[in-house]
Parts: sequence; structure tokens; C-alpha cells
Amino acid sequence: MRITVLGKSPSWQDVGGACSGYLVQDDSTTIVLDMGNGVFSKLRRFVDYVDVHAIVVSHMHADHILDLIPYSYALTYAPRQQPVPIPPWWKGTAAPAKPQLHIPEGGRDIFRRLAGAWGNEDLVENAFDLHEYKPDDELKIGTLEVRFASVPHYLPTHAVEVVSSVNGRGRVTYGADCSPNTDLVEFARDTDLLIIEATLPRPERTGMRGHLTPGEAGQHGRDAGARRLVITHLSDEMDQAWAKEEAEKAYGGPVEVAAEGATYEL
Ligand SMILES: [Zn+2]
Ligand SMILES: [Zn+2]
Repeated sequence: MRITVLGKSPSWQDVGGACSGYLVQDDSTTIVLDMGNGVFSKLRRFVDYVDVHAIVVSHMHADHILDLIPYSYALTYAPRQQPVPIPPWWKGTAAPAKPQLHIPEGGRDIFRRLAGAWGNEDLVENAFDLHEYKPDDELKIGTLEVRFASVPHYLPTHAVEVVSSVNGRGRVTYGADCSPNTDLVEFARDTDLLIIEATLPRPERTGMRGHLTPGEAGQHGRDAGARRLVITHLSDEMDQAWAKEEAEKAYGGPVEVAAEGATYEL
């Protein structure tokens, strides 16, 4: 299984960057975890968007879903998706690509309100094969198996685990966005690779907590016994070397800072 970072910015993009998006592939199945702003164009560098089997969304914040809008327009209006021949796609197609889209419960309504703002209410649900999942659902997408765990954040949010049934059964755990918690630690127990957010230079000063510092991210990795740790969802305006050092101190081993285009083989 191969994981490629498409975007790793928090809720605003790095220079030239994209918000959350991770490509997960084995020999026969391609899925994308989250599709934040900027991710669609990054995805196109690596795979043809009509060949993606499924997109799995951790939660419905803008920086994890916004590029499902341009992706929907591509699936709806791209010449090769049409039933009639349009140059240079001379054949037309009776079976346009319609990737699966797995979103948390209530997500369909959020997309209706979002695209409904400009009168395109059913844009996303028409473009994709849309399903709302529950946290205890287990998905089988081609040769990839997907499981979820609820994690604490500002709205229903799910860590996501992907296991390949081929290529040696590699296992990746993606922590989504979360405040410090033990559910993620249990869910990620002994995982091959934990991709965990490290958004904050210091804990939130007021209100409920919703994110982790690099030190907390490292501690979660250590507590889970994750074999490999990647910190993500941190801005290019944060000192990357400091973040890495903080995470490594708590993890007790080398930690990688997610970078666009970085790949991890499991
Ligand atoms: Zn986020
Ligand atoms: Zn979020």
C-alpha cells in the first residue's frame, strides 16, 4: 500500500499548497482521504480523477471537503463524461465515472446547503455515488478495508483506518482533526503508520479544545505504539523544525513532517 500526501495545510493553505488530502493506493484500488481546498489539482498530478474508486471524508469542515465542489463539476461537465461524442473524446460514454463518496451522517445536507447557495443543491450527490457512514460501519472498497473511530473535535469527526487485503496487509491510521483523547490511541494501537494532526503551536487558550500540539501528537503516537509517525495539518507559518523536535521528544523516535508529494510505502 502506498500513501501520498496531496495536501497538509490546516484551514488556510501554505504557499502553493493544499488543505487535507491523502491518496491511498494498493495494486488495484485507489481512494482519497479528505478533499480540502486545493486538493483536486494536486490529485491530478498523481492519478486521473475518473480512476479514483472512492473518497472518504473524516468530517465536514471546509478544509476537508471544499474541493469536492470542483471535483463534482469535473465529473458532471468534463467532455469525456458525456454520452455524446465531443472532440477530442470521439466515443462519448454511456457509463461516466461516478466514484463512491463516503461522508459522515448529515453530510448530504451540508453539501445541499453549500452548493444550494448558488442554486446547485444536488451537485455533489449527482456527481458521486454518495453514502453517509456511521462510526461503526466497515467499508470494503475494492481491496481496501476502511474503519472509523469517533474523535473529539468541533463537529462529528472520525479517525480513519485503511488496511489493504493485498500487498502484505499494510495498515494506515489517519487521526483527522482532534483534541487530546484516548479513543485515537486505542484505534491506532500498533498501526504501521499514524498520520496525526499537529496544528497548534500551543494549546487553545479559551473554549473547548479541538486540536493537538506537535508534542501531544508525538505522545499519542508513543501511547499507541505506532510504528511510524507523520505529523500533519500544520501551517508553513509554523516552525517545522521546532514541530518535528517537539513531536520526536514525546514520541521517542524519528517523526516525519508531512510534505506535499511525500509517499509512504507499507
Ligand atoms: Zn482541518
Ligand atoms: Zn476540522
